[in-house]
Formats: sequence, structure tokens, C-alpha cells
Amino acid sequence: MEKYFRFMENGLDIITTTKGCGNMLYQRGGKEVWDNYLTLSKESGIPLNRIVRVVLKNGSEFIKVDNSHGGEGVYPDKQNLQGLDGLITTEKNLYLGITTADCYPVIIHDKKKSFLGLAHCGWRGIVEGLEVKILNELIQMGSNLDDIQIVYGPGICGNCYIQHDQYLKDIFINKYNYPEDIINPQGKYYSVDIKKASQHNLKKAGFKGSFIDLNICNYCDERFFSVRREGKDTGRMLNLVCCI
Ligand SMILES: [Zn+2]
Repeated sequence: MEKYFRFMENGLDIITTTKGCGNMLYQRGGKEVWDNYLTLSKESGIPLNRIVRVVLKNGSEFIKVDNSHGGEGVYPDKQNLQGLDGLITTEKNLYLGITTADCYPVIIHDKKKSFLGLAHCGWRGIVEGLEVKILNELIQMGSNLDDIQIVYGPGICGNCYIQHDQYLKDIFINKYNYPEDIINPQGKYYSVDIKKASQHNLKKAGFKGSFIDLNICNYCDERFFSVRREGKDTGRMLNLVCCI
């Protein structure tokens, strides 16, 4: 099995690992995780000290990182960036990283200035507007909305995210007033399209461009881990992106 998928276009290098690379989350693994990072580095040619990974919390806090953070979240003894769900950098060839297994990695990129943001968007990050917070931070830093491109990496699609109770319907529709078309009937249950909800956030914030979608559902495609399919103790993919 391939260990990762790589997309190099529009000034970005984007990588998502598969089950073939193994679990990439130290916080849910053992000694094998370090070996998985070594394998990824060897096969992709990406030095481990050029990756910065945050330890997620399912919230909406993010951090600005630079070359001095290289290796954070990657070396077993460097796990200091905790409680964070997004990263921003202005460095080139510095890979921002998050682990996922249903949530979306959302890449926000200023093509002109080579500013880069990465957001971990599950439903909690989305209702807290994490991707919008990162977009707005780039604008604060001097980005022009017209120069921004937004890419959705692998995540759970609008058919696969099935809810058996009213909980998410109440959150999205009643509490946060999202458009009703993010919820769709699925037999006696319903599904939630969190990618569409996230894109709704960004359009509402003024983004008028088109979204680039890698069109991978990690639940439909069993080469990827999925918490919904396999339970919370399953592995996590590593999503990486840098400006080249
Ligand atoms: Zn799917």
C-alpha cells in the first residue's frame, strides 16, 4: 500500500499519509510512531526538522510558527505545542502538520505573499470558526482576500457522517443557524456535511474564490483511518503542507 499521497500544485506541497505509513499520533501510540515518522521522512525526502505539528484539542486556538519550531510534534521528546488546532507561518519549505481521522485539514494560502495557514476542522472547530480566525489573521498580516486559495484535504464526506441522535442537528441548525442543506436524511438517521459547513463559514467571512477539494473521503476510502468507522483508538493520518 502507498504510504502517502502527495499533491504539488499552486505553490504548495501537500501530503497526507495513509494506513500504509501507520499511526502518526504519539498521543495514541507507542514506539512505532517514531519509526513511522522516520519512514515518512526517508520516503518523502522531507527532513523531520522541517515539520511542525501541533497536539490538537478540538478547539479554535492557533499558533504562529517559524523555523525555530522545526521538529515540534515530530521528535518524541518535542511535544510542546499542545492545545492548538491551527498553525500559521510565513516561512517557505516549513511543513505545517496536523493529524486527522475524519476531521478536515483546511489549508489557507496567500499565493502572492506565501503566507500559509492550516486548520483542524471537525464540527467543534467549525462552529467556533477556526478557519475564519486563521483567514482573518492572514488578512491582518497583510493578505488580500483575492490572493487567497483554500484547499480541503481528506475528511469525512457528507454521506458518511451519520448521526443517530438530534445533537449535531440542534447545534448546527438551531444554535448556530447554519443552512439546512448541510443536514441530509439517511434512512431513519441523518448525515452532516461538515465540509459544506466550513465553506459556509468562509463565504460568510467574505471569501469569494472557489475551493480546491482533494475529494478524498477517509471513511469511503479504507486506505485511510477513520474514527467513525474504526473507533477512537484507531490511528491518525498526518497532513502536511508547505509553501514551495
Ligand atoms: Zn464518504
